[in-house]
Amino acid sequence: MGHENNVCIQGARRWHSLTGHTLIVGAGISGLSVAWALLQRGHAVTVLDRGAAGRESSWAGGGILSPLLPWDYAEPVSALALRSMAAYAGWVADIESTSRLDAELWQCGMLALDVAAPEQALAWCAAHGMAALRDDPDALNTLGGGHRIWLPGVAQVRNPRLVAALRAAVVQSGGAIHEHCPAVGVVARNRRVTAVQTPTGTFQADNVVLATGAWSGLGLAELAATPKIRPMRGQMLLFKLAPGVLNTVLFRHGLYLIPRRDGHVLAGSTIEDAGFDNTTDDATRQRLHADAAALLPQLADLQPIRHWAGLRPGSPDNIPVIDRHPDFDNVLINAGHFRYGVTMAPASAELLVNLMEGAAPALDPAPYRWQAAQARAW
Ligand SMILES: Cc1cc2nc3c(=O)[nH]c(=O)nc-3n(C[C@H](O)[C@H](O)[C@H](O)COP(=O)(O)OP(=O)(O)OC[C@H]3O[C@@H](n4cnc5c(N)ncnc54)[C@H](O)[C@@H]3O)c2cc1C
Repeated sequence: MGHENNVCIQGARRWHSLTGHTLIVGAGISGLSVAWALLQRGHAVTVLDRGAAGRESSWAGGGILSPLLPWDYAEPVSALALRSMAAYAGWVADIESTSRLDAELWQCGMLALDVAAPEQALAWCAAHGMAALRDDPDALNTLGGGHRIWLPGVAQVRNPRLVAALRAAVVQSGGAIHEHCPAVGVVARNRRVTAVQTPTGTFQADNVVLATGAWSGLGLAELAATPKIRPMRGQMLLFKLAPGVLNTVLFRHGLYLIPRRDGHVLAGSTIEDAGFDNTTDDATRQRLHADAAALLPQLADLQPIRHWAGLRPGSPDNIPVIDRHPDFDNVLINAGHFRYGVTMAPASAELLVNLMEGAAPALDPAPYRWQAAQARAW
């Protein structure tokens, strides 16, 4: 590939303008959204995944495009989430027009029930420019649930379809995706990685982006330092109702229901510190089913049609690492988005590409730095 990074000095900081070929390890939404952003700016991209693209956390998630109670999170989560939420419709439209696949973006709103401190929640929404009302639409007036807050601007995607569209858009824009191709090590010299090794061959690279989700804490041979990221299992149930029974996301006491337009309803989720075990269990199925039926009685007599678990890339406070690797100047990371990696994808990719190109960052990069993440407690 024969290109070198240009290194120039700007103030006290070394900026690396981006040229050449970028190799992205991990084809979940974090890796594919960086690939898409780079391709749109004219860069060459190859993506590796040890399985099929987008089949891990990015497949297993619910696709709600907002933190569940947005007022409950640290500002760095809000900053990335709100910037992404504002961009999402346009971002998805571009992906859909290139891929000709429908991601099923739907601004269905979210109704939070039993909100503990509604006045503070409404004040937070007003301060952050998020539409919020002290009640729900008429159709939902039959629901109980103490203080209710209706967030009409909250949207969702059908995340497996978004990832399929993103994958197709990357390929149609000239990106290469190698599936079933695990990165196992790197060739490194003088603070630079020159190639990534896989069991079937070595990929030369001018820049490397690590987007390995819940596996980011494992590292690769010769790439010793690892970020503070570990798997957090989430189990999910899927029901099938007639279309239109539920038309908004419902959230109460940690449980959410997500309706799809065709009548599917997802119920989730758990947050389990179970290592890399992504199996499901009957006790959790029964508990999720009972909680879901308490929220939507139509689910009581239905059996779930599917039950799965996914491994979120867990990080302290849900704050991802979007930064350069501390030991290698041409290695970057976009990982650790924990519960909100689908929501945060557009702004995270934008920030990472800003860092790669040496451009002024779209938002303050400090909270997403490697060292900031190392300093946060679990
Ligand atoms: C039950 C559940 C519900 C969720 N609900 C929501 C929601 O409603 N809204 C929201 O915004 N987020 C939600 N999330 C979180 C969201 O799904 C994740 O934050 C996001 O998908 C993380 O994307 P990722 O690309 O970083 O990780 P992943 O999708 O896990 O992708 C990482 C990829 O890296 C690959 N990989 C790992 N190691 C290697 C290697 N050595 N070589 C090559 N490839 C490698 C893996 O195979 C995988 O494909 C949910 C998650 C779960 C589990």
